[in-house]
Amino acid sequence: MVKIKLLILVPFLFIACKSSSNFTGFSYDPPGVTNTVDKKTEEIKLRTIGAGSPKVWVSNEFESARANDFYQVNVNTFEVLIKPENAPINNSPWFAFKIWSDSAQVINLRLNYKGGKHRYLPKVSGQKQGVQFSHIIRDAAYDTSNGSVTFGLHVDENPQTVSAHFLDNTRFSDLIAEIENNRKPFITIDTIGFSHQEKPIIELTANETEIINPGALLLFSRQHPPEVPGYKAYQAFWNELTSDSELAVTFRKYFLIKAYPIINPDGVVNGHWRHNFKGIDLNRDWENFNQPETQAIKNALLSLQDEGTATVFYGIDFHSTNENILYPINEEVVTSPDNLTQEWSVLIKEDNPELNFRSEEFDTSSPIAKNWIYRTFGADAVTFEVGDEVDENAIRSLGTNAAQSLMKLLIDEWQKRNE
Ligand SMILES: [Zn+2]
Repeated sequence: MVKIKLLILVPFLFIACKSSSNFTGFSYDPPGVTNTVDKKTEEIKLRTIGAGSPKVWVSNEFESARANDFYQVNVNTFEVLIKPENAPINNSPWFAFKIWSDSAQVINLRLNYKGGKHRYLPKVSGQKQGVQFSHIIRDAAYDTSNGSVTFGLHVDENPQTVSAHFLDNTRFSDLIAEIENNRKPFITIDTIGFSHQEKPIIELTANETEIINPGALLLFSRQHPPEVPGYKAYQAFWNELTSDSELAVTFRKYFLIKAYPIINPDGVVNGHWRHNFKGIDLNRDWENFNQPETQAIKNALLSLQDEGTATVFYGIDFHSTNENILYPINEEVVTSPDNLTQEWSVLIKEDNPELNFRSEEFDTSSPIAKNWIYRTFGADAVTFEVGDEVDENAIRSLGTNAAQSLMKLLIDEWQKRNE
């Protein structure tokens, strides 16, 4: 009898152990995602290609572009081929290209993805007679057999940009330009490391507290290049935290803020679907730290703690997905402060009812940024996901009111701990 019991128990224990200690990826991850040793990526050829007669032109010769090839399929149907930087990869097919024609015509434009299926509504923008225009293609026909889409597009000699998200204020060069214009005396800008392609990993610090060991709030964004709605929420969030409002000024008496706005600059510049220049999902590298981008942030934040400069209270990692969703740390895991995300998520839902925010709690076993914050500082942290197609005004309002409700909660936490 005893023998039989043992036989049943042993394999069960083995399985139980394996599932909690060896995280191998979320359901939507490709196999091998947690092996973050350098892989090979295919560098995109920057070029302008003409097809048909009169010619239609497509160009990827600009920052954040992605279009791998372009050809005519039949009289008025043209196809842009879009490939990822390497595969396998999560389905996040970023595209961005300019298109124009030698003579005005309406064409059918097909976006054909290799290694992925259509996800982002095409955004069209350009200038006509000096006037800026933009619109979103909502009626593209989806082909279930191969995941491509086709839509009608008026093309003429004025180049239009077709992209997965509007590019304004989302490019790496926009961040550099913006920080060069920084006028706030309490904000410092540091380069804490470099990407594989020698682009700076930027750290912004907002610090005007006079307290010896203040609280620290950490903001991460753009580990995944196409996740622009998350980045826009981060931008609105940061702007509110660093504003002149009474709440923000009070908040900054007790807390300093460390922000890493574009953690994957090579991915953003090269129009990647998800990975860095060495083909790695950076948000699976927060245990092994094989990549320079994650190493730089780890080192910067460890020195913050070692020098006793500040005590980390909370971390937010901004992303986007197909819905508005918060991924808190499981309520049972004790963090300090404890269950702040659970309290905050009630306020976010109340303040933004039209966004239908959901929460889904996770254990802390995966090698993602949020879990590293918890493991390293004992602090609470959240992955903050904004829906792929939430409009810019709604994102701005969300980022602003979420920053306000969090500042109030954190000030309360500070007072509980210190008064
Ligand atoms: Zn993401």
